[in-house]
Amino acid sequence: MTKPKITVIGSVNLDMVTSTERVPNQGETLTGQSFEMIPGGKGANQAVAAARLGADVHFIGRVGDDPFGEILLKNLTENGIHVDGVEPVTGEHSGIATIIVSDRDNRIIYTPGANNLVTPEYVEHFLPIIDQSDYVVLQLEIPMETVEYVTGYCYENGIKVILNPAPIQPLSETVQKQATYITPNESEVVGVNASTEQLIVTLGKDGVKYYQDGEERIVPAYTVEAVDTTGAGDTFNGALAVGLAKGWSLEKAIKYGNAAAALSVQKFGAQDGIPTVAEVEQFLQ
Ligand code: ADP
Repeated sequence: MTKPKITVIGSVNLDMVTSTERVPNQGETLTGQSFEMIPGGKGANQAVAAARLGADVHFIGRVGDDPFGEILLKNLTENGIHVDGVEPVTGEHSGIATIIVSDRDNRIIYTPGANNLVTPEYVEHFLPIIDQSDYVVLQLEIPMETVEYVTGYCYENGIKVILNPAPIQPLSETVQKQATYITPNESEVVGVNASTEQLIVTLGKDGVKYYQDGEERIVPAYTVEAVDTTGAGDTFNGALAVGLAKGWSLEKAIKYGNAAAALSVQKFGAQDGIPTVAEVEQFLQ
């Protein structure tokens, strides 16, 4: 059987995670406890999920011309993702999230860098990749005008789009009309007034809400011991895209997404926890 073809257009970031006992005061220098560089970005996470779950995945995005860009590209290729749509930006840094993890909370500074240069003009170079996709997956860590351009192009050309409206931002009426499915979580759903038939709302440990024939339906989540829910939504979206691209019913694709996400929350790290096809199949037995 041929693999479903998915194109993810979005962000790719390197998370710089420093753990400390407490957050430094102004002007103070503290000794941290540990440091890790972890590949992330909602776009990249969703692409990794779709690829591990057996899709033929193309990524369209940008990295900087720095060593971080090389790390990020290598991570995508090691996950089997085609990176012909990823061109480094000269004189720009890669997307970076500086994360301070202390006892009480996480403090995050996200600096988009090269992700801001995923412009409509850039994406236009890769329309042949988009044209051969069963599904295109978008999030909101790249410029909104690009999200609007891609959604419009796909709408006109009969290509299906999953729009994950995260992080929360106002969406134009046109985008909401043109996206095939919109997948907010509970806090993101306030900004969305698309038709209910397009809405797939993730509810954390309560699963997923969607609508069929005007009726609200819930697909419950799997009961698991969650240790880190970072990226649960990204795993869900990647898996949902795979299921829908295979032509499954919405209910079956959502169940598959819930299973993949349930596996992901049992491990630390957004990408580390993303399961493979074999792991999801075993979990569902
Ligand atoms: P986000 O990560 O975008 O905030 P959610 O928290 O709604 O999104 O989680 C996305 C999906 O991940 C849920 O619909 C569910 O399938 C799964 N999930 C999240 N948290 C848990 C959990 N504690 N137990 C089982 N599944 C979970």
